[in-house]
Amino acid sequence: MTIDEIRRRATIAARAMEDAPAGGTRPAVAPLQLASVFTFRDLGQVDRVYEGEERGYIYGRLGNPNVDALERAVAALEGAEAGMAAASGMAALWATVLAAVPPGGRLLASAGLYGGTEQLLHEDARRAGIEVFFVDARDPEAVGRALEGPGAAALLVETITNPLVRLVNVPRLARVARSRDALLLVDNTFASPALFCPLEAGADVVVHSATKYLGGHADLVAGVAAGPAEMMARARALLQRTGATLEPFSAWLTLRGLATLELRVRRQSDNALRLAGELAAHPVVKRTYYAGLPEDPDHGLARTMLPEGAGGMLTFELEGGEAAADAFLRGLRMLKLAPSLGDVMTAVSHPAKTSHRSLSPERRATLGIGPGLVRVSAGIEDYEDLRADAARGLAAATC
Ligand SMILES: *Cc1c(COP(=O)(O)O)cnc(C)c1O
Repeated sequence: MTIDEIRRRATIAARAMEDAPAGGTRPAVAPLQLASVFTFRDLGQVDRVYEGEERGYIYGRLGNPNVDALERAVAALEGAEAGMAAASGMAALWATVLAAVPPGGRLLASAGLYGGTEQLLHEDARRAGIEVFFVDARDPEAVGRALEGPGAAALLVETITNPLVRLVNVPRLARVARSRDALLLVDNTFASPALFCPLEAGADVVVHSATKYLGGHADLVAGVAAGPAEMMARARALLQRTGATLEPFSAWLTLRGLATLELRVRRQSDNALRLAGELAAHPVVKRTYYAGLPEDPDHGLARTMLPEGAGGMLTFELEGGEAAADAFLRGLRMLKLAPSLGDVMTAVSHPAKTSHRSLSPERRATLGIGPGLVRVSAGIEDYEDLRADAARGLAAATC
């Protein structure tokens, strides 16, 4: 029955959303499908869809066309058998860890992971029956030793560390993990698939906070993973049970962001490289961290691992400590202090006060996170405007 066949107002109002006019042409882009439930013709179709004999969606938490499309796109981008989308990067990571490590199993994790990941591993992994050990992933020999003995089921690393943007040798770690029968899980958020595909380098599963570069516009929270179909299916089942699957609008927005991922990241990388060069030459800057700079200790690895660019993230330390960092931030007119990254707009953050706030000053000092440290997520603005605003900040930090 169509809407114009119904006479009573309460029924018209109740059923108006059901009316989906079908034209002879198809929409050029996938429509956003917010439906939380799907309808069936008869019980035969119910049987076929529930048993997986016929393709179809049932209920929003269990699957949705927009979320499905994102999972397929991510799998194709990463060269994986299957993709998985989650309500956030953390949800994707947790589901991946639980799918990769059996109860009672051991997980070897890189020291100094994203703060949320560290917290999750400290607070919740043991309760899930997973024993977590930390190792310096920048030292593949230490990783090899840590994987010996009562072997770990998996090794978790980030391609580019936060906030000092040091590179982790993923191809080498993949060989080490494989030789010890451990799975290699890589959080590739900072690099994005535009610059690096961990699976091509031998990793088993890649995870992203799609909130960052994949979405790219600071307007959604989402996570994705890609890897072997069987493992992704188990991780997805966990998300379905715990209700941490992605909702359709964020999936749709992430797909919209993916269209320009490579263009954005290329520009962000170019802007970061130029800005890093400028900062490194400035007298109030004590040290600049960016693997794209020829003088950076990670430059050799960057040339082989990230030949398309070292990414949009860079970090620098001001001579004058916290006072200088505060003066720098207050001297900016266009760039904003925002504790996230990967957005089209350049974001500046202060790791000691934000992402690494919960650590003791001593622990921060050990990690090289001083009060004068400033992290930049380069955006896609015209470089001249970026340079001019950074110069305003640096001038303010000088006096
Ligand atoms: C942001 C981030 C996460 C967490 O992702 P959410 O989408 O915020 O849940 C995990 N890893 C890295 C490296 C991140 O930057």
